[in-house]
This record gives sequence, C-alpha cells and structure tokens, in this order.
Amino acid sequence: MSHILVNVAWPYANGPRHIGHVAGFGVPSDVYARYERMKGNDVLMVSGTDEHGTPILVEADKEGVSAQELANRYNRVIANDLCDLGLSYDLFTRTTTGNHEKVVQELFKQCLKNGYIYKGTQKVAISPSTGRTLPDRYIEGTCPICGADGARGDQCDDCGNELDPDELINPVSKINGEVPRFEETEHFFLDLPALAEANLAWLKTRKDWRTNVINFSIGLFKEVKPRAITRDIDWGIPVPVKDWIDNPNKKLYVWFDAVIGYLSASIEWARRKGDPEAWRAWWNDPSTPGYYFMGKDNITFHSQIWPSEMLAYNGQGSKGGETGELGPLNMPEQVVASEFMTMEGKKFSSSRGIVIYVKDILSRYPVDAVRYYISIAGPESSDSNFTWSEFVRHNNEELASSWGNLVNRVANLIAKNFGEIPAIDENEMTDEDRALLDETREAFATAGNFIESHHQKAALLEAMRVVGDINKYISATEPWKIKDNPARLGTVLHVAAQAVSDANHLLAPFLPHASQKVWEALGGKGTFSPLPHIEEVEDLDKPGFKYPIITGDYKLGVNVHPWESEPIEVGAPVAKPTPIFAKIPVEAVQEELDRFSADLAARKEAEAERLAAEKAKLAN
Ligand SMILES: [Zn+2]
Repeated sequence: MSHILVNVAWPYANGPRHIGHVAGFGVPSDVYARYERMKGNDVLMVSGTDEHGTPILVEADKEGVSAQELANRYNRVIANDLCDLGLSYDLFTRTTTGNHEKVVQELFKQCLKNGYIYKGTQKVAISPSTGRTLPDRYIEGTCPICGADGARGDQCDDCGNELDPDELINPVSKINGEVPRFEETEHFFLDLPALAEANLAWLKTRKDWRTNVINFSIGLFKEVKPRAITRDIDWGIPVPVKDWIDNPNKKLYVWFDAVIGYLSASIEWARRKGDPEAWRAWWNDPSTPGYYFMGKDNITFHSQIWPSEMLAYNGQGSKGGETGELGPLNMPEQVVASEFMTMEGKKFSSSRGIVIYVKDILSRYPVDAVRYYISIAGPESSDSNFTWSEFVRHNNEELASSWGNLVNRVANLIAKNFGEIPAIDENEMTDEDRALLDETREAFATAGNFIESHHQKAALLEAMRVVGDINKYISATEPWKIKDNPARLGTVLHVAAQAVSDANHLLAPFLPHASQKVWEALGGKGTFSPLPHIEEVEDLDKPGFKYPIITGDYKLGVNVHPWESEPIEVGAPVAKPTPIFAKIPVEAVQEELDRFSADLAARKEAEAERLAAEKAKLAN
C-alpha cells in the first residue's frame, strides 16, 4: 500500500462553477482517486474554494455585500455542486479558515528568513475616479508578450503568461472603461530567479507528463522575474511582518496563498481527524507522489509558483537556507493539466452567458451521464467541445442502450429463471465462456495502466469495449432459448453476471452512482461506491466561523471493492430490475439550445446596460 496525494485545483469563489471547470479539474481527479483506492492505496484528496483577491471584492461591491459574505455564499454553492457530482474529497475546505492563514504565514516567514522573499517597490493601478486600487484581473489591454488583445492585468489567456497590470499596452479598467493611473508602493517580492535553477532542474527530471504541459512548463523559465506577492488591498491574509501585520490595506496576494491550500487542507484534514501529524505521510515522505489536477490555465501556478514556494521554504534555491517545521515539502509528481472545453463551439464565459452551470445540468440530467460525457469527450489531452447533441447521444447509445440494457437483460433473465445468482456447472463451461471471463479479468490491467498514465478516456473505452463483448456473448449464447438444460442456462447466466460485475468494477471510478445500482441489481449488499457528503463544521482556530466541508469514508473500513474481478456470490437474491439508465428525449437538445440563446441575449443586454450606467456615473 502506498500513500498517494491527489491535489485538485481550487475553484474561485466569485460565482458558481460551470461544466468546463469540472471537466478540467473535477471529474478526472475523482476518477483517479477512486481508482487508486480500489487498488488498495491510501489516497488523500484535498481542495477547497479560493476566496481571496480582488475579483471577490469587486463582485461583493457589485452586490452590496462584504467580501466574506460573498465568499460564504459561493463556497457553499460550489461545495454543494462538487458533492452532487460525487467528487470524493477527503477534505474540501476554503482559504478563509484560520488554519490556512497560519500555514500561509508560516511559509511566508520561512521563505523570508531564507532570503527568497524581499522588500521592494511595485507600480500599482489606481482608479482615478474612486482613488482605490484596481484589481489586476479587471484591467484589460494588449499582451506585451504575444500581442493578443483582451489580456488581463494578471494573465494573458492567449499565451498563458502571468502579467503585471503595468506591463499591459493601452490598459483600461473593465469596470468602467477608464484609464488607470499607476503609482509606486512598497511590496514583498518572491525571488523567482533565485529559485529558477532548482525549479527547472526538478522539471527536467519529470517523466511521462503530457507533452503540452511539460513544454509549456519548461518554457516558463526562458525569462524569470521576481514577482510581488503582496497587494494594496483590504481583503486577504495579513502579511506576518512588523508594521505590516496590522495594516488593513496591505495583504498577501491571492496566488501566493491559494497554492498553499493543498498543504493547509491536508493539515486541516489531519487536525479534524484528531491525528494532527497524519498529513506528513503525504508531504514529507519523498516516496509519496502528489498528483495535481487542473485546467491548462493553471499550469504556471503548479509548475513554477508552488514548486518555487516549496523550494524556498525547504531552503533549496540558490541562496540555500533551512526548512521550516512543516518541511521538507515534496515537489509534485505530476501536473495533470487538461486542455480547454468550449460550449457549442464558443469559449465558456460566465460574464458572456456562454455557460452551463453544474447545478443546472445536474437538476435536469443524471449525474453519471454528466460524468460519462466529461470522461469520454472531455478535454483530456486536446481541446474539446461540449455539445448538447453529443451529450444526449453518448448517454442514449452508450450508457442506456449498450451498458444499461445489458445489466437489465442479465438481471432480468436471472430473476425470471432462478431468482438468485446461479452456480456454474463446470461440465457445462465452454471455451466461449472461459474466453469472456479471461477477457474481463485482463481488462483490469489494461484499463488500470491507462488511468495510471492519465489516459482516462482510453481506460473508459477499454471498459466499454468489454461491455460490447459481453453483449456479443449474450447474443451468441441466446440464454432465452435454453429451455431444457438448467445447468447450461445457470452457467451462461453466471458467466454473464460475473462479466457484468467485472465491467461494473471497471466503470466504478467513472460512474460511482450507477455502479452502486448495478452492484445491487446483481444481489450485492452494502456500499459498493462510496459517495461524499457535506458536513457543517466550525473553524478550528476562529471560534464561531462555520462552514460546510466535503468529506466521506471512502475506505469502507477495509472493505474497499478491489480493482480486479471480484467473484459474485452464488445464491444472492436477484429481483426483477428497474432500469438504471434512462434515455434522454432527443427534444432536449433543441430545448437546451433555445435556453442557451435566450440566456446569451439576456446577459449581453444586462452587461451593456451595466457598463452604460457606470460610464454615466463617471460623466457626472
Ligand atoms: Zn499573451
């Protein structure tokens, strides 16, 4: 048994998450964690909502609430959505906890002591009309690196490079269209150049990363500059330095704190289970791999920023140094970044209304239909396009017709003829029977290798190939025609049920909700696929601060169902089944497309009105 750390990107809490987000970080990380648990490994899967930074402030201002109130609202919305998707976090928490603040400050202090954080000055953008600092993300202009229009003050989506707002060519405020003024203020900087050599040397030891991810990561080191890690802002983690700690207008920058969430969430998980040092097995033991799941827009933070923060904390950059009490911290094993997903051919955009929120799709369609679509047609290693027609087709042809009908047919035949799982009569076993069971048994190694190398789509295709071959076996053996030979009929149905059970194990990481029902349809008892739940907790360090977490018991004591053929139980009662997958009426496609265009038009209008009102305010 090995320890395996599954670190999942932290959704930003300024609004609900859409299907493009969960296609990148959500479902793939859960498939991986579920697989590793079935393999008998000790998985720790953590994440939470990312709640600091100026976009939260801007959204809160717009809605007339405090930043904390806004974060509270979306933390809950996002936690509920991810839980409803069945994502099996050991802990899904948030970045406004007392625990996170302590861990972030500990990292800051040690990096400062080791000389990788130093004080300097930085130009910041000020809104001439309000006198307040302008959020980086709300300044738009031309990218100084690739020349793309619409680059933001924190990052260019076209080339993926991080930016500072004063680097933008022709910067304007997205809030009201005015040209910002830049002023020099004092800030702390992370000395990325002093960490670049060690960071790059580590990257060059990485094997088997997706080509795009490793190439992009190494490309980040062509030009490395120190980066300011504090901001003139009143929302964020206090800077743990004399004269700064109590300054309400200086806070740590959101990207410095958010990536530390993986570590702080692991520590919170250990503290909550009453074994406060338990996290160390996943962070201090160099043989424990950590896998980081995200969309490709987050690669910089996981190939450069977070590794550099850990190297600085460990004292492993060019200035040397000592590790703090939490270290030495393990570098990532792999950054598993997916590509982008578009929606009906357009880039997802909440502000432009090109979006389908998790809550909305789950309110209208079965959760495993959504998980299946993401796994079979998601942006694993190339960009992909979500379309309603493909969503309905995959569900109807593959889940309902091929897999659902097979389960139903086999359970039905067993219910009708035996009422329980029949035994095999060895004398009745044919080569055909043996070949099918060999095939399903062997599929575990094939599909497992695909999942371990982060080719989940190929693993799912392998499972569905097995499903196709079980269907062929049923058509060839025609059990409904076997009339006067109960021993042969029992043997065929036992073989079919065993093969279905094997396929169900292969599909379990992808379809945890449906696999529980398939398990029960074949007479299985108890929990087959554990699901997460929401728990209301109180902050461990800030009394009275309450929030929901996602957690669960995924190890089922020690009775995890394994990633291998598990013999079905002869004599287990099998009743007439109820269908596990339903077809989605094809009319749903047009309904969704109509809804989508209506949303789009309405949002465009609302945004134009808002901007006009802001401009009118400015003119007065
Ligand atoms: Zn660019």
